[in-house]
Amino acid sequence: MLEALKLSELREELHVSYSQIRTYLMCPMKYYHQYVAGTEASHRPTALVFGSAIHHALAHYYRNLQVAGEKIQEGDLLEMYTDYLDEELDRPIPLLFDDPDDEGKLKDKGVALLQMFHEKADCPTVLAVEQPFAIELVDPTTCEVMEPKLVGAIDLIIEGSKRPEIVEHKTTSKRYSRWQLDLEMQPSVYKLAAQELGLGETDVRYQLLVKTKSPSLQQCSIKRSSQQIQEMTETFCQVLSAIEAGHFYRNRSWACQDCPFRHACDGCS
Ligand code: SF4
Repeated sequence: MLEALKLSELREELHVSYSQIRTYLMCPMKYYHQYVAGTEASHRPTALVFGSAIHHALAHYYRNLQVAGEKIQEGDLLEMYTDYLDEELDRPIPLLFDDPDDEGKLKDKGVALLQMFHEKADCPTVLAVEQPFAIELVDPTTCEVMEPKLVGAIDLIIEGSKRPEIVEHKTTSKRYSRWQLDLEMQPSVYKLAAQELGLGETDVRYQLLVKTKSPSLQQCSIKRSSQQIQEMTETFCQVLSAIEAGHFYRNRSWACQDCPFRHACDGCS
């Protein structure tokens, strides 16, 4: 039986999230604008909002499966997605579209993805949907316990053939390669979170909704060694130390093109 943790309560304590660490690793200055200075964003990244809308619909699919033991109707699944997206489109900070038609195309793309998902998805025994967790990070080199806890939520936990299985949903424009999966740090986070939640040994799988012209579902089993978990912990602790020390520098890359803080970043020395 999983502990009934509330994400909002875990977030009341000093904490850091996986996406905050990822933001720092991508560009420390972006982290600074987003999480330290509270700089107003010029826009919201379209891919992020799209991914959230798909996640919202999938959470609804699996919650319904957990409670009713059967697939939700396709129309209800699509409604969860379109309602969420409409609300997001109404918010004051705009999404960035190159072309006014792109708004409709975005909606259509999500509908096609979810229709494909509804047709292909199986009906596992659901143990938890969006299960919150909090992990104490201990620096493996110094044994220092980091003050902020790593807080987040696991998309889905199901009963696997041998042990519980953690499933992460992602939307992507192309299929993941094996080397790309090997570099992902999120599965290591989930392995630690599973231990913290008392799940013991777990399997981890990415369920990828691929946004190609003909949408597809890619299922990727992911293994993690204790060395990879230790490397993730070490990296996260080093990021936390760098944040604590105020190291916020620009890391110019392809990501600057779509950065919501570019106006502030380019304007200050
Ligand atoms: S514009 Fe580039 S360097 Fe500046 S904050 Fe954004 S990602 Fe970082």
